[in-house]
Amino acid sequence: MNIHEYQAKALLKTFGVPVSNGVPIFKHEEAEAAARQLGGPLWVVKSQIHAGGRGKGKFKEASAGDKGGVRLAKSIAEVAEFARQMLGATLVTIQTGAAGKQVNRLYIEEGSDIAKEFYLSALVDRVTSRISFVVSTEGGMDIEDVAHKTPEKIVTFSVDPATGIMPHHGRTVAKVLNLTGDLAKQAAKLLDQLYTAFVAKDMAMLEINPLIVTKQGELRVLDAKVSFDSNALFKHPDIAELRDETEEDEKEIEASKYDLNYIALDGSIGCMVNGAGLAMATMDIIKLYGAEPANFLDVGGGASKEKVTAAFKIITSDPKVKGILINIFGGIMKCDVIAEGVVAAVKEVGLKVPLVVRLEGTNVDLGKKIIKESGLNVLPADDLDDAAQKIVAAVKKAAA
Ligand code: GDP
Ligand code: MG
Repeated sequence: MNIHEYQAKALLKTFGVPVSNGVPIFKHEEAEAAARQLGGPLWVVKSQIHAGGRGKGKFKEASAGDKGGVRLAKSIAEVAEFARQMLGATLVTIQTGAAGKQVNRLYIEEGSDIAKEFYLSALVDRVTSRISFVVSTEGGMDIEDVAHKTPEKIVTFSVDPATGIMPHHGRTVAKVLNLTGDLAKQAAKLLDQLYTAFVAKDMAMLEINPLIVTKQGELRVLDAKVSFDSNALFKHPDIAELRDETEEDEKEIEASKYDLNYIALDGSIGCMVNGAGLAMATMDIIKLYGAEPANFLDVGGGASKEKVTAAFKIITSDPKVKGILINIFGGIMKCDVIAEGVVAAVKEVGLKVPLVVRLEGTNVDLGKKIIKESGLNVLPADDLDDAAQKIVAAVKKAAA
């Protein structure tokens, strides 16, 4: 689960992390009071969306101006003007895709005098099974670019969970960032605070870009992007409360209500599969035959008819879906349950695209019989290879 920058900063502040003062607003009428409360003389008006690259982003509406999604303002009047322009407008950044995201919240922040911009992030590293930090002097820019062109400028290290942050970690960060004296001490303290917050709140990723040194000689977190391990959210009701569903894919929200493992993708073939491994294999084979999957969907081991119906509805509600491939290996999951769910869903929402069904395993004959007797226009398949070829061909034929 992701949260907004202003929420991330408020959370990090409770761990002692140095952030600027700021006020989130939801209506442009609130901008002036927020700016007055912060005092100035410099403010930053920041679009709050669950995507990065806001500074270099562009609004779709001409009325929002061309100054990007993060703007420096030099007067209260300017803060208010930017707020009027930006709230409700659609911001397109390298991370939002062409559709962009509507800006429904702004963060009005006290402006900082920047001397240097660094990059610092932490993530759960599956290779070392530890929390790893990534540090670079090249902050504020596209870190992927830096990793590609000048990988020597990025330093990573992992932290032993038994010891936690040690003084040498702080020294490493200070050395990489060329910080000495008091700033080196601030870096060591910050690292400790970030690690503590990361573990305490079951974060999956914490990215600070930029981490700055101000002209006053202070280390400060200027941008913060945090995501949490969704499987640990039950332990953190305070974090779960920060969820902003308007930032999430509607289909994914619906899927989560039914406990379906669903991720929307960009392709044209909707997939309904049981088991994550089989779902991955299904996506691979669709690609092998020259098409792209529209989603990842694992209905789980013991799905009910209701769950299958919900899954089918989610797939068909996606306008990108031009064909559906159902690939079930019945183990605990019975083929007849899948068949009943599919038939019920089609009765409810109709079927406007080709559907290929490949069933195998427990109660397979009963499952096939249910589908056959339902009169549904289904293309049966013998095995996964056959199924993938059939759905790709059917989608290509429909598009031709
Ligand atoms: P992002 O573009 O979504 O990553 O948003 P950021 O919060 O990182 O802001 C983009 C850029 O705006 C930063 O890299 C800074 O260069 C600039 N910026 C943000 N806040 C301030 C500020 O308080 N003072 C100054 N001078 N620049 C800022
Ligand atoms: Mg940033």
